[in-house]
Amino acid sequence: MIVMKFGGTSVGNAAAIKQVAGLVSKYADRKPVVTVSALSGVTDQLLALARAAGSGDGADPEAEIARLRERHLVAVREAVDDEEMVQICGEQISKMCAELLQVLRGVALLRELSGRSTDLIVSFGERLAAPAVAAAVASAGPAAGAVDARMLIETDDRFTSANVRFEATNRKIRAVILPMIRQGVIPVVTGFIGATSEGITTTLGRGGSDYTVAILAGALDAEEIWLWKEVDGVMTADPNLVPDAAVLAELSYDEAAEMSYFGAKVIHPKTMIPAVQRGIPIRLRNTFRPEAPGTVIGTRTGAAPLGAKAVTAAKKLAVAAIEGKGMSGIAGFAAQVFGAAGRHGINIVMFSQSSSEQTICLVIESKDAAAMKTALEEELREEVRAGMVERITVEEGMAAVAVVGDGMRGSTGVAARVFGAVAEAGVNIRAIAQGSSERNISFVISEADVAAAVRSVHRAFALHELRAKISV
Ligand code: ADP
Ligand code: ASP
Ligand code: MG
Repeated sequence: MIVMKFGGTSVGNAAAIKQVAGLVSKYADRKPVVTVSALSGVTDQLLALARAAGSGDGADPEAEIARLRERHLVAVREAVDDEEMVQICGEQISKMCAELLQVLRGVALLRELSGRSTDLIVSFGERLAAPAVAAAVASAGPAAGAVDARMLIETDDRFTSANVRFEATNRKIRAVILPMIRQGVIPVVTGFIGATSEGITTTLGRGGSDYTVAILAGALDAEEIWLWKEVDGVMTADPNLVPDAAVLAELSYDEAAEMSYFGAKVIHPKTMIPAVQRGIPIRLRNTFRPEAPGTVIGTRTGAAPLGAKAVTAAKKLAVAAIEGKGMSGIAGFAAQVFGAAGRHGINIVMFSQSSSEQTICLVIESKDAAAMKTALEEELREEVRAGMVERITVEEGMAAVAVVGDGMRGSTGVAARVFGAVAEAGVNIRAIAQGSSERNISFVISEADVAAAVRSVHRAFALHELRAKISV
């Protein structure tokens, strides 16, 4: 069994959906289980509608929902041959759009948008996509049926990025999906969404369809996970930033995880977890160039000649700095700072302390900047009064760049090459951290310097040559 996922661009319009249906039927003998994202741009559109409704000053969403409905209806009419199927699917789409309009109007009346209502609103993206894709697959030949993942994926109620309850989830997946496969019906499952044990809709975080497919694969003990994207595979850098980025033939789970944690938008960070547990390889392939070899993420991987395999950047970060001569040698000071962040629900992306202990730097997401400043000022009030802490600053507009590769471990001169390249680009480094795994060196710079720094590091490690050098 192969569990495969098609992202938003891969199901963006009728032509793309037809292409997807063709690929699924081509691999029908490998017993595919399919997951789909919302049509490209739809999740962003639904989020914008939700926010407008919550603020109470948006226009009535009726016209926009009508356009959304039309976009899906056109896709179905063009991608599905069977008239009766077009009719049934069209009715489902219209019914869901009517319900979505009601929800949005409800939020607008209350002028209150919670995480819970946000998740319900964005869930319509995937719920509209799955029946359309299932009908297109059925129209191309094999029997297929849409499955709403709220029946499969049970989560806690941390809305907008819920945690999966694996025991219940695995049980539900097997109970629903295995009988479909036995009957020769290809399941087309909505990505990204789940539900609490009470049936309240939740989501797994942006880009979460990658994670959905890995959860399905884990529960079903699939042979492989295929992520069909609009790129040829995982590349040595974001191709939008580095035009000569190369497609990597192979990557270890650890390398892929480090890349995704440090901003590579090509794969959701949690995707690797179920795959690692069962040793299921993840293959990235291009929907629109299926003949391209793609990338395999697994346990076996070739090393890059200079150690590093990829360079990634995460933007929208802030640096909180605590400075003071009185901080050195005080046991538990760092713990106090971390504790303050934790109590305010602030995630620390990176942390560094200079050896003189006169500065502690915490890298956080920009959205937490104001809360972090308040948290630190409250926590360290006494220390500031006593003169031990001289300054607490939080600066936004920062980015973290990470250089990743298993082969960096134990190879000498990697750090020198990284920082030499950054200096050559004339970019100032604000903080540095090296993960203890040694497969990642990351540093913080101003957001405005990201392109220059990433390109310079990419060049210094000759990453554009990697595809040729690493075995397929
Ligand atoms: P999905 O279909 O799952 O939404 P996409 O088809 O949008 O995924 O592909 C991922 C996007 O990630 C691409 O558009 C690409 O520009 C971007 N990207 C960023 N970093 C990388 C990287 N290192 N390798 C490949 N793609 C990357
Ligand atoms: N549609 C969701 C998003 O845009 C999930 C996904 O595409 O993976 O974030
Ligand atoms: Mg995408």
